[in-house]
Amino acid sequence: MRKLKIDKRIGMTKTDMEFLLKRAMPFFGVEELKVDWSKSKETYPDIWCFPAQRRIVVTQEWKNQNVNERRKRLVHELLHFKGMEHGKKGHLEYSTFPWKDTYSKKVYRDIVGAGIW
Ligand SMILES: [Zn+2]
Repeated sequence: MRKLKIDKRIGMTKTDMEFLLKRAMPFFGVEELKVDWSKSKETYPDIWCFPAQRRIVVTQEWKNQNVNERRKRLVHELLHFKGMEHGKKGHLEYSTFPWKDTYSKKVYRDIVGAGIW
């Protein structure tokens, strides 16, 4: 049974939770995940993770993104859980900067299927 624990202060949408529990966690083979809230008002970073603790932290800036961008940024962190490091991935880039992060976008598309984004 997969375990997903979300800090209530995030006010995460039900569909974002379902994306994590039913799509992303199975895709990455992650059995336990905790999503915590940071009060940081910075625009960058807006999300980060502690892979050993199976923990992701999000901020208001993350919340301000549209649904696909929010989920792409979660995917970016879950890739770190798998030991991925930033850098070129073929013609794509796994970048710490969301606007350059074409690799996480591709993986997000792989998870949700073509045509969504
Ligand atoms: Zn990163």
